[in-house]
Amino acid sequence: MRQSKLFTKTLKQAPKEELSLNAQLLIKAGYVDKLMSGAYTYLPLGLRVLEKIKDIVRTEMNNLGGQEILMPALLPKEPWQKTGRWDEPGEEVMFQFQGRSGKDLGLGWTHEEIVTPLMKQFVQSYKDLPVAVYQIQDKFRNEPRAKSGLLRGLEFSMKDLYSFHANEDDLLEYYEKSKTAYLNIFKHCGLEARIVEASGGDFSKFSHEFQVFTEYGEDTVFYCSKCDFAQNDEICELKAGDKCPECEGEIKEAKAIEVGNIFPLKTKYSKDFDFTFTDKEGKQKPVIMGCYGIGPSRVLGSVVEVHHDDKGIIWPEKIAPFQVHLLKIGDSDEVDKASENLYQELKEREIEVLFDDREESAGVKFNDSDLMGLPVRLVVSQKTLKKQVVEYKFRKEENSEELSQEELFSKLK
Ligand SMILES: [Zn+2]
Repeated sequence: MRQSKLFTKTLKQAPKEELSLNAQLLIKAGYVDKLMSGAYTYLPLGLRVLEKIKDIVRTEMNNLGGQEILMPALLPKEPWQKTGRWDEPGEEVMFQFQGRSGKDLGLGWTHEEIVTPLMKQFVQSYKDLPVAVYQIQDKFRNEPRAKSGLLRGLEFSMKDLYSFHANEDDLLEYYEKSKTAYLNIFKHCGLEARIVEASGGDFSKFSHEFQVFTEYGEDTVFYCSKCDFAQNDEICELKAGDKCPECEGEIKEAKAIEVGNIFPLKTKYSKDFDFTFTDKEGKQKPVIMGCYGIGPSRVLGSVVEVHHDDKGIIWPEKIAPFQVHLLKIGDSDEVDKASENLYQELKEREIEVLFDDREESAGVKFNDSDLMGLPVRLVVSQKTLKKQVVEYKFRKEENSEELSQEELFSKLK
């Protein structure tokens, strides 16, 4: 893509009222636009990142046997009354209002109330189990103060998967597999997530959160410095300095961002909706459920919180909007021609490239490139042409190197 055709521009300053670091950087670099607190427009570059994250999530969910569906975000009151969640937590979490017909409606913040009766129509026998469905959709939360940018929105992107099983052992086996899938997703997105025990509600000992440790996090996690033990502050009875209950290690405290969670629902919702199946002996039994959430928009915000420096964003390779930022420095015919040729060559080799072909000064282009944070920067200038090289630099490293075209293409592979 040619940057001269990109309608978005970088900004010198983020809006003053934007307090979160992730949104400040994303707005300045031209990835998102703030409509209001908790609601952002994804501009072309931001949408490319969001879609890449969704693709990574989708691949892992398909590997888990999940079948993709899309449920409405606009929901009727009745199924929520069945579980009690229309009133508790009610409007504290859910946007609720009436249509012109007088019908009570709400915007979805989770979909157990919709997916359970949906699957009840199709699952009758043990032969129909296990089964898992998921969707990637915008969800809504009636947040009183949405001030964390993409980390906590009124509207946000969510992947929610629901699994249905004939017995608890089967659920737990799937639940463990989902942990591996989740860790894969975060790794591909450049995040190191830790599995943390959290409250399981009334129906399970634990649920699990996936937490990324960063000083900017809203959550507090207590973890062992030696083993995998980790709990969130809502359930942890230990404090920093205590001895780990599982080994000799010391408990430490960290700030963290929750990027995913998984929950063994067991029969909580199947009981509310009388969702049963016929087992091998012909007996009716409640279906055992699990649910599994990841917010792609929150992952995007978390990546920016973790991967940046004082100049701008540093995208991990797999979710960068483009792999290469090609900068044309200077406006001689020679430089025009050489940079244009390199741009075409990169495209032919199917390397994702953003070509800064604008008539701007070198300073503006270098600053924009650092702010936008694509993994590799290439420079074609009078100086590089004289040496018959291209300047090659990783965004995350200080030093650049000079490569011949041949060396360049073998390196980009
Ligand atoms: Zn330990």
